Amino acid sequence: MHFTDTVYRNPYWPTFPLLQITQGCTHNKCRFCTMYKDVPFRPQPKEWIEEDLKELAETVPEAKTIQLLSANPLCLSYNRLAPILEMINRYLPRMEYIYAATRVTDIRNKTVAELKNLKEMGLREISLGVESGDDWTLERIGKGYRAADIIEQCAKLTEAGIDFWMTFLNGVAGKEHSREHAVHSAEIFSRCRPMLVGTGGLVLFPGTPLLEDARRGAFTPLSEREMLIELKTFVEHLTCDCSFITHHTVSGANLTGPDFLRRKEKIVAVLEDEIKHGDMAKMAAVRESKRTL
Ligand code: SF4
Repeated sequence: MHFTDTVYRNPYWPTFPLLQITQGCTHNKCRFCTMYKDVPFRPQPKEWIEEDLKELAETVPEAKTIQLLSANPLCLSYNRLAPILEMINRYLPRMEYIYAATRVTDIRNKTVAELKNLKEMGLREISLGVESGDDWTLERIGKGYRAADIIEQCAKLTEAGIDFWMTFLNGVAGKEHSREHAVHSAEIFSRCRPMLVGTGGLVLFPGTPLLEDARRGAFTPLSEREMLIELKTFVEHLTCDCSFITHHTVSGANLTGPDFLRRKEKIVAVLEDEIKHGDMAKMAAVRESKRTL
């Protein structure tokens, strides 16, 4: 298999097997991220993809799921992506679910009709690392899109019948804009109606511009308690029925599960209890032990 980048697999999805169709990230400018810092973007050579699929056809011919790599594989145009999906189905004829994490902006260059065709070819679930629905925050962290773009592109996915996840990055607005980040993100996410909302907690990794901002006083990180307060505010304002997961977030409680609206009051109560009685030193240690997003 041709894996040229560090592989980031989704721990909540049956991510087997994996197929790399791009290298690096087309954007590579998010101020909290170093995942693909030294990897120039390029599409994976077509012959490598085919060689990998031949290998998978020999080793896992019954595969029904597959995750596309790397950072944002759906950036490829429809005309490049469709033949790859067609090839996946040819080599792995039992394929049912093709999954990819990708950027909101990767949906822009595809029409709803094209997205529907991709769904017919097996593209069923997409994870969008949205991080925030607040324009001030999106600008500040260099995401390269605005809240209106999120709504527009997610509406296309909904119309095409492709399920999608949205992630909220707890703490990324700093003290400067914490409440707005939480409230506006919840509003935008609720309007988009994703099948799943995931929350992760910010870690200031070495080499990130956001860490430099913090060192020169232009970004003020939240304390552990403030992270929990922000997460609670986000949850309180989230009104879409979805699954809800808290991957490597600040909360020590297990808030993960389906039926968010049914569990919402309980999640808020758990967070309130953690805000009052939680072991903040332990939470800080867990967060500091993270080595990657
Ligand atoms: S967070 Fe995602 S989109 Fe942003 S630079 Fe990192 S890999 Fe690229």
